[in-house]
Amino acid sequence: MDSLQISTHPALCNKVIRRTKPAKPRRCISCGTPAIKPGRRYCSKSCREQINWVLSLSKGLLKTFSARYAAFSFTNKHVILDVLPTWSKEISRFSSKRNRGSKPSEDLKNLILDSGREWHQLVGNNTSRSYASLSLLTRNNKKDIDPRSIKPDKRTRPRLSKHETSCLKVLKLDRNDLISVDQERKIKAAYKKMAKIYHPDAGGDAKRFRQLAEAHQQMLLWVKNPQFSSRKALQGSWAYDGYTNRWTPPL
Ligand SMILES: [Zn+2]
Repeated sequence: MDSLQISTHPALCNKVIRRTKPAKPRRCISCGTPAIKPGRRYCSKSCREQINWVLSLSKGLLKTFSARYAAFSFTNKHVILDVLPTWSKEISRFSSKRNRGSKPSEDLKNLILDSGREWHQLVGNNTSRSYASLSLLTRNNKKDIDPRSIKPDKRTRPRLSKHETSCLKVLKLDRNDLISVDQERKIKAAYKKMAKIYHPDAGGDAKRFRQLAEAHQQMLLWVKNPQFSSRKALQGSWAYDGYTNRWTPPL
């Protein structure tokens, strides 16, 4: 059994792994290489392809585990695959130590293959398929990890065009103001407040006043047909959804 190199690291249980605050990604989300080009999420095309290939390889194992959700993350020392089966309220954590010089995707591949091999061995020894899954999940079970930590963030955010985003700025409002039920009143109040400053009769700048009036109209239009988006992703971890059988990159 121990030949699998899958172990549970008590020190990892509740710590680090997933950040709670959004941070601009500056590291490659596949291999962790720091200081990648601005606006990029990967250090190279091949690095992106490699992680996508390994994550799709993981789908077989996740199906075997009846995963409702899963999350993949890595540190300098470990790769971690958390699994929440459909029938369970508890997370099972599969993790292994990183090999010197290899990429997280390579280490994840080994973790997946080792787990798969063990599962096949159990089945080969006359264990039923579901019992083989159960015994692997149970052995890696981690009661102390909050299952909500791998359920994707479904908070809704107003979806705005570039122009609408700049209008919001002109009105000195933020996106949260558009989520509230009295969004229209907030927009009108913001307009009135700013108009007092920019109105030419009050010695304001005519151009800025025009911009403000335009922004006001634009946002009132948005309110008539508001668009929202919800992100099904996790902070700092790749997120898997068993319903769609898809992996989503970290936020
Ligand atoms: Zn990379």
